Amino acid sequence: MQLEGLHHITMITGEAQRNVDFYADLLGLRLVKKTVNFDAPEAYHLYFGDERGAPGSILTWFEFSGARRGRAGAGMIHTIQLGVGSPHALDFWAQRLGAAGYDAQRSEGSVGLDDYDGLHLELVIARDSEPPLAAHHPQIPSEHAIVGVQGARAFAAEAEGQAPLLTETLGFTSLGAGAYRLDGEQRRFDWAYDSPPEAVGIQGAGTVHHIAWGSRDEDHLAWQQRVREAGGYVTDVLDRDYFQSIYFREPRGILFEIATLSPGFAVDEDPGHLGEELKLPKMHEHLRAQLERQLAPVLNPRVAAREQVD
Ligand code: ZN
Repeated sequence: MQLEGLHHITMITGEAQRNVDFYADLLGLRLVKKTVNFDAPEAYHLYFGDERGAPGSILTWFEFSGARRGRAGAGMIHTIQLGVGSPHALDFWAQRLGAAGYDAQRSEGSVGLDDYDGLHLELVIARDSEPPLAAHHPQIPSEHAIVGVQGARAFAAEAEGQAPLLTETLGFTSLGAGAYRLDGEQRRFDWAYDSPPEAVGIQGAGTVHHIAWGSRDEDHLAWQQRVREAGGYVTDVLDRDYFQSIYFREPRGILFEIATLSPGFAVDEDPGHLGEELKLPKMHEHLRAQLERQLAPVLNPRVAAREQVD
């Protein structure tokens, strides 16, 4: 039994439309689902990814409208690494992000920047052993597109200590000095701990809420059992409409999820029109009229582009 690398990473934003403008319009990911938070349906939950929203490409945000900026501290992820194809692509991104007013730091092998909420991103050269997970965007040449999430770094006290939940239970490989690699059949993921800053973390806009690893559907219950046997508190299986999920906290404080690889985002929307309509979890469908009044409309740039042509 083997986890299939990353499934998705979920963050918090204070403003849904800016979230779409940054990740779909500027970075060129596809907004693949516009839905609401299962536990707080008055809040948007937006999913971005490659053309089909494949696990390994997915970044998602809960919008808490007007949320104040948070700050990553111990037990929180502080950096997300996105892959691109080549050093030329890094040059392209340094230029594109700079032109959009972002302070993009080009260094050997990467471009670092903070998004509009202060979330730190790093564009890095993708491993060429994996199928690229890219989306189409009219202003981004396909050879420069982002091709999937490559890794993430978190703050943790005793960053370099043992992590048996990772290595023995979940199958990560320890690379030493707080660095780990998760090898799926198709995709890998780089995971690392760094010593935390003195200031305590504050959950808020621009911080990461949780990280989800991919599981083959048929292994999901066995993962739940395995985490439970390792002594972790793990939730029941929750139906998230686009995948099934279990959640537990790893010993350094970071919320982990294990999510199934299917059914995926085309389960309630035509693959050619993902992320265009507001989709509600079945349990909240009866609130649709109220939610459509409450939630500020979010424009998918693909719809906007089509409307300009029409
Ligand atoms: Zn999740």
